[in-house]
Amino acid sequence: MSGSGTGRAPDDLFLKIIAGEVPATIVHADDLVVAFEDVDPQAPVHVLVVPRERHETVAALAAAAPATLARLVEVAQRIADERCGGHFRLVFNTGEDVGQSVFHVHGHVLGGRGFTWPPG
Ligand code: AMP
Repeated sequence: MSGSGTGRAPDDLFLKIIAGEVPATIVHADDLVVAFEDVDPQAPVHVLVVPRERHETVAALAAAAPATLARLVEVAQRIADERCGGHFRLVFNTGEDVGQSVFHVHGHVLGGRGFTWPPG
């Protein structure tokens, strides 16, 4: 699948953040994932949790590296536990039509306010 590879894509913004080439407020880093504040927060808590390896979508990540996806979810929960009482949305925009703009999978950890359902 295109984009599932782990090779470095020169235009991958999140690889540049992970490498320290683009500044970001890093809130967590381990051997599998890095988390940083979203530059355009949509809620009081808005953190992106990103695998170090580049996979385009959450399904590609699940197929190629399920332990990394599990770590991503664990870190998301930990951030929500620390910042917003464990209540959060974990969003993976998948595809341009629903708003994916960076094609390096990332979980949006959103919390700290009420959310409507259905989502907009
Ligand atoms: P998505 O639209 O789901 O692909 O999410 C991409 C997210 O990356 C958006 O919420 C952006 O605000 C965020 N973003 C873009 N550039 C940066 C950056 N330099 N540092 C942190 N977050 C960023």
